[in-house]
Amino acid sequence: MEKASKRRRVTIAIDGPSGAGKSTVAKSLAKRLGYLYIDTGAMYRSVALKAKEKGILSEDKLAIGQLASSLPITFITDGEHTRVLCDGEDVSEAIRTPEISRLASAISKQKELREILVQRQREMGKEGGIILEGRDIGTTVFPDAEVKFYLDAGGEERVKRRYREMRQKGFEVDLETTRKELMERDDHDMHRDHSPLKRAEDAIFIDSTHRSVKEVVEEMVRMVRAKVKK
Ligand code: C5P
Repeated sequence: MEKASKRRRVTIAIDGPSGAGKSTVAKSLAKRLGYLYIDTGAMYRSVALKAKEKGILSEDKLAIGQLASSLPITFITDGEHTRVLCDGEDVSEAIRTPEISRLASAISKQKELREILVQRQREMGKEGGIILEGRDIGTTVFPDAEVKFYLDAGGEERVKRRYREMRQKGFEVDLETTRKELMERDDHDMHRDHSPLKRAEDAIFIDSTHRSVKEVVEEMVRMVRAKVKK
């Protein structure tokens, strides 16, 4: 970790499609800079999981909104791992299933839900020294973030990464289904009415295809340092 206290602690936004490597590089970058890391997708996933458990229908905007404003969501980073606690319960694994991915994407089009979660994310990030990763961070949550990245990778590369990740987690997925689900989710996230995924005009574009996490993170560290002169 670098001597963070000597430098100005800013807000860093990382957006991009599924499987681009956002979480992995965001975690690593946060560790390098001594910043807090917030996985905003985990917040949408947590609401989706709890809605499912409580039998709330995904179309019930009012109930989903109420759930989003009252649900305690905490991130605990221990070493390389960030755990997500929802109402005190560790949901880190439960929110990563294909079903919750679909449900999170389905409810994320709701304006009411987005407004509540965006407000919570702004509150978490108001002190700076934070990296937020998601779909609308540089465009909506922190349009004035000092550093913005848009991380992407070739479609087939993203599919393979997601496939490997799901297999490692023990899900019996096949490549074709993974491809279909990832493409559908991205299409949905890019074409919804409210805060669709798009690159902020002032975001630095990084293509992570054929590049290691280490390389990408090194490039990001250089860019953050160049942008944040004392
Ligand atoms: O990043 P992750 O794949 O975990 O996000 C799950 C879903 O949550 C996305 O497919 C997207 O629909 C939604 N999301 C969002 N805005 C964010 C982060 C995630 O709409 N800032």
